[in-house]
Amino acid sequence: METIRNYKCPCCTAPLVYKPGSDVLHCNSCDNSFPLETLEQMADAQETAGGTSKYDWEHYEPRSYDSDAEINLANYSCPSCGAEISGDDTLGATVCPYCGNSTIVKGQFEGGLKPDYIIPFKLDKKSAISAFEADFKNAPFLPNNFKDKKKIAEMAGVYVPFWTFDCDCNASIVYNAERITAWSDSNYNYTKTDYFKLFRSGNISFANIPVDGSKKADDAYMEAVEPFDYNDAVVFSDKYLSGYLADKYDVTADESIDRANERVKNSAVECFRATTAHYTAVIPESTKIDFSNGKIRYSLLPVWMLNIKYKDKMYKFAINGQTGKVVGEYPVDNGKKWRYFGIVAGIAYAVAIAAARFLFF
Ligand SMILES: [Zn+2]
Ligand SMILES: [Zn+2]
Repeated sequence: METIRNYKCPCCTAPLVYKPGSDVLHCNSCDNSFPLETLEQMADAQETAGGTSKYDWEHYEPRSYDSDAEINLANYSCPSCGAEISGDDTLGATVCPYCGNSTIVKGQFEGGLKPDYIIPFKLDKKSAISAFEADFKNAPFLPNNFKDKKKIAEMAGVYVPFWTFDCDCNASIVYNAERITAWSDSNYNYTKTDYFKLFRSGNISFANIPVDGSKKADDAYMEAVEPFDYNDAVVFSDKYLSGYLADKYDVTADESIDRANERVKNSAVECFRATTAHYTAVIPESTKIDFSNGKIRYSLLPVWMLNIKYKDKMYKFAINGQTGKVVGEYPVDNGKKWRYFGIVAGIAYAVAIAAARFLFF
């Protein structure tokens, strides 16, 4: 008997030996046989899926705003959280959309860089307020100042800076998987476990993966407020800023690349995973994801922001300016909560007494 190449048994890793007069390799340790062709395919796929992933992004070259802007932008800065926001001169911003501080001042700071694209606000303030009011109807024990119309009207429309990433992604993933079959006859119950090596490879193109480019905007909020519909994105023009505030990025494209890589990788892994639904215990053995044609664009996306204070804590809300999706956590008015539970407990007590009577009489 002769050992062929270095093929190892996929089940138990013992060396495989060629079975004379056949085209299979045999494992003397666990008694499995494997067609040579399958083993060759397996070795190729494992080689492809091995090694490190390559991420290839173009360098982003920032552009300055044109000097012949169509509208006059005023710069505002917030002494409380340090936000530096631009807004159209007529807006007279008074409340910081990021922290709710009301001593926001007109200030001088270096203007932002020109965005490539903008998704204009689709929801005007009235619609954004309606979306918020519809959302808080589901919040139990909401303190009354969350329903205060004057407070809610402080909601500000902010164009939040986002980096958007496009890329073509080539992924190869090897999984170990199982499939369990169970059956019975009149004497015995049987369980059979089949073990599989799964190979998946393919290309996926991603477009407009957003990564929030503002330190002031909470990343978790900004990802929760997605998705944005990029079909509505247009080439940037400052006329869209009229009536709104605009933030400029303070997280560079380079600093956002790691998060973009992570999002692309997670999405690709999820897509591939969906093709293994017919197996149980699917565990990735190796994953290799290469990116090519990585493009980076600077976009402004529309978000309505509202800050409401309750018991010394500021509660932040973000509303997607395109879809009306509301993100934020509502506080619970404990006074209201206890009144409610007092009533529920009272009813439960009455029911318990009725049940006890029923049992004992
Ligand atoms: Zn074996
Ligand atoms: Zn602020």
